[in-house]
Amino acid sequence: MKAGCSLEDSCPPEKFRRFRQQHPDHIALTYINCSAEVKALSDIIVTSSSAETIIGQIPPEQKIIFGPDRHLGGYMNRKFGRDMLLWPGVCIVHEAFSETELLKLIAQHPGAPVAAHPECPPHIIDHADMVGSTSAILKFAKETTSDTVIIATEPHIIHQMEKAVPEKTFIGAPGADGNCACNICPYMALNTLEKLYVALRDLTPQIHLEEEVMNGARRSLTRMLDMTGGKATYGDLGPMDLMHGG
Ligand code: SF4
Repeated sequence: MKAGCSLEDSCPPEKFRRFRQQHPDHIALTYINCSAEVKALSDIIVTSSSAETIIGQIPPEQKIIFGPDRHLGGYMNRKFGRDMLLWPGVCIVHEAFSETELLKLIAQHPGAPVAAHPECPPHIIDHADMVGSTSAILKFAKETTSDTVIIATEPHIIHQMEKAVPEKTFIGAPGADGNCACNICPYMALNTLEKLYVALRDLTPQIHLEEEVMNGARRSLTRMLDMTGGKATYGDLGPMDLMHGG
């Protein structure tokens, strides 16, 4: 039950609601790493792989709040030349990468491309040869002709890469002192195979959400699925009931 997320922690629903009330002409696009309550207060949910498709459909004159990850939002602002208002949350894992240590690693492995997740801060993204979601990074790892790749995201993904292409070498981008474990997510590390087994066996712990929260979160999630699955464009969604997430 303690396996949370620093992005979720950084965005308490009541503060997010007040922030929305201060900007009544903005719609809220919210990264999926947030609580169900914040999803219910949002208009459209995005993932790191769907954010570009969704933002690309929204007219430039429409003002947007992007939360809770300011680095992902900042990356999208730069990519689309937008000025989305950014909630000041970060992922502690991606925040921990060191530019100095990354530059040392690049010097040690000349020619090895750097693949970075857009939750990384700009000083890491600036050195990346590709920027993309976890699944996009995995695809890049398989398809690149380089036999060594530097990976700037939560390092557990490297196991998937080593299974998929065992003949290649994947090197995790370093944290502040070059060999600390500060870029391993402490929350995800709380999930173990034993706990998963017990949860499936005993169907516990259980999380119960209020109907209103479920309906609100479902609405913003469904909009994302419709906009990325070809069922609807932004223009089809109609006016949104701003400040109340939909
Ligand atoms: S790596 Fe951990 S802290 Fe960062 S977004 Fe994922 S769950 Fe949250």
